[in-house]
Amino acid sequence: MIIDLKHIFVNDNSVLPIEYKLDMSSFEFMGQYPLKKPVTIKGIISNKASLVRLEASIVYTFEAPCDRCGKDTARKHTLTIDKSLAVSIEGEESDTILITPDMKLDLDELLYSETVVSLPMKHLCSEECKGICFKCGKNLNEGECGCCVKEIDPRLSALAELLNDNSDDN
Ligand SMILES: [Zn+2]
Ligand SMILES: [Zn+2]
Repeated sequence: MIIDLKHIFVNDNSVLPIEYKLDMSSFEFMGQYPLKKPVTIKGIISNKASLVRLEASIVYTFEAPCDRCGKDTARKHTLTIDKSLAVSIEGEESDTILITPDMKLDLDELLYSETVVSLPMKHLCSEECKGICFKCGKNLNEGECGCCVKEIDPRLSALAELLNDNSDDN
C-alpha cells in the first residue's frame, strides 16, 4: 500500500494513524518460510513544527524449528520504528531518516525491508534448550536418553596427546 503524505507534509500538527498488514508467507529464510502469519505495522505519522515523523511498531511471528532441538517454535518479535520523513536530504543518508521524494510512503517496502534486516540469527524453543543427543537423537528437553556419553576433558586429551608424542620419540 502506498500512502500519500502530502496533506501531512503541508499541514502543521496533522496526524495520520496507520495500521497495515503485509503477507510475507512466501519469503524464504535459510530454507524455511518463517513468516506464516502477516507482518503488521501500527503507529502514527505526524507533523510537528514541520518535522514529519513516523512512530510505529512492527510485529511479526517467526515460525521455524528450534536451532538446537528441531522442535517447531513460534516467537513473536516487535520492532520499534522512529524515523523522520523528508522529501530530500542534505549530506549522508541515515537510518533514522526516510526519504519520500514524492511525499508518498510505500508501506509494503518499509515493512519488508525493516522485517528482513531484523530476522533473528538465533531461534531457540527456550534459552535453556538442551538440544538432542548426538548418539541416539533423543530430544534431551524431554529427559535423559541413557546413552553413555564419555566426555573427555579437552585439557586432559591435550595432555594425553603430548604424552603420546613423547613416547613416539623414545
Ligand atoms: Zn529447542
Ligand atoms: Zn542418547
